[in-house]
Amino acid sequence: MIVMKFGGTSVQDSAAITRAGAIVKGRLQQKPVVVVSALAKVTDQLLVMARAAGSGDRKTALSLSRALRERHYTTAGELLGTALFTQFHSDLGAHFEALDELLRGIAAVGELTPRTTDHVAAYGEILSSQIVAAAFSAHGLDATLVDSRECILTDDAHMRAAPLMEETGERLRAKVQPLLAAGRVPVMGGFIGATKSGITTTIGRGGGDYSAAIVGSGLGAERIEIWTDVDGMMTTDPNLCPDARRIKSISFEEAAELAYFGAKVLHPATVLPAIQKNIPVYVLNARNPSCEGTRIATRGPRSRTFFKAIAAKKRITIIDVAAPRMLLAHGFMRAIFEAFDRHGVSVDVVTTSEVSVSLTVDSNESIPALAADLAKLADVKYEGRKAIICLVGENLRETPGIAARVFGELSDVKIRMISQGASEINLTFVIEEEEVPQVIRRLHKAFFSDLDPEVFT
Ligand code: ASP
Ligand code: MG
Repeated sequence: MIVMKFGGTSVQDSAAITRAGAIVKGRLQQKPVVVVSALAKVTDQLLVMARAAGSGDRKTALSLSRALRERHYTTAGELLGTALFTQFHSDLGAHFEALDELLRGIAAVGELTPRTTDHVAAYGEILSSQIVAAAFSAHGLDATLVDSRECILTDDAHMRAAPLMEETGERLRAKVQPLLAAGRVPVMGGFIGATKSGITTTIGRGGGDYSAAIVGSGLGAERIEIWTDVDGMMTTDPNLCPDARRIKSISFEEAAELAYFGAKVLHPATVLPAIQKNIPVYVLNARNPSCEGTRIATRGPRSRTFFKAIAAKKRITIIDVAAPRMLLAHGFMRAIFEAFDRHGVSVDVVTTSEVSVSLTVDSNESIPALAADLAKLADVKYEGRKAIICLVGENLRETPGIAARVFGELSDVKIRMISQGASEINLTFVIEEEEVPQVIRRLHKAFFSDLDPEVFT
């Protein structure tokens, strides 16, 4: 069997859901389980409603809910035709009545807890899965709606609940496998689950991919397909470099390094349950389904190029902490990191010398306060408008001379910090922000002119 996950944009309206149905039809031989996100933007809107109600603004909450109801009715009406829609109308209506009831309750109490937030947020996927299952059936697929809250069991850490993998696997095998055996197409909402006692939970924003991996892992899928609206992961940002190409195949570790530096297609951490079971994950384009997309697996094929991709992350500030006599003193690093912790600022790149530490952080308002705090420990300087460049590839592990080639290409560029080693598969350095486009283009030209057709298109 396989898992096919359709993200918010891939089910955003009746046209998108129709496209998804056609894609699923083409894969029936492989016994798909379909996992869907809420219609695009719906989770955001539900959270706005919940907060409005929480602040006592019942009117705003209910009027937003009305707009949401209209959108779902319109989408379902377009997909189902009159006769089917008349029957289905009351199913959807019951959900919206319950949602409104919930919003009134929240507004009456004037308090929004994480547990109640999950109750509201879950409606996105409850509704989308119901509409998608009905639409698939109307279009000749043997679809069956499966309530994810009966299969995906989690702890009670509301809004970012962790799945209980063993119990979830058992439930999936009991509820979903018989449907597959009977030739049916199970349709489930992503993102949502329930505690053992049946209280609705959600597993974190963007959790649809995570749900797909949990389902795939529990059912021992051959592959997991993440259907989005781009052709896959690219060698670099095509907006910066027109020569960027699709990556056909990438290792999990490489994909994880890229995600960290802002490649937004999919956060590999969310598909870890699949990777741990050696299940490959494909990122595919629902608007261009014949494109092979990007395959993420425990091991990818070795490319002949040094790197798989180059990522850039802008809006970086460098913080230099210099303490000629203190640096090597026991506990000094800890004191520095405790200051970052107190200000809730997370660090990307760290380089150290005998007498100083440089750290990069995303530019934000808490930096002056953080710097003032650090100044109690040492001399502190900070400088914004920097960017991190990150070159990623398994080949970096064993090939000598790569750093010399990279910095040889950039001999006229001012390099501020260099870091290599932690993962052995990335070479990271910091430059001035305005240099990003030309640096990316030059590196891409130097290292990707000889693209390997096995790994790149
Ligand atoms: N609908 C959820 C969200 O927007 C989960 C997802 O789309 O992956 O966060
Ligand atoms: Mg998403």
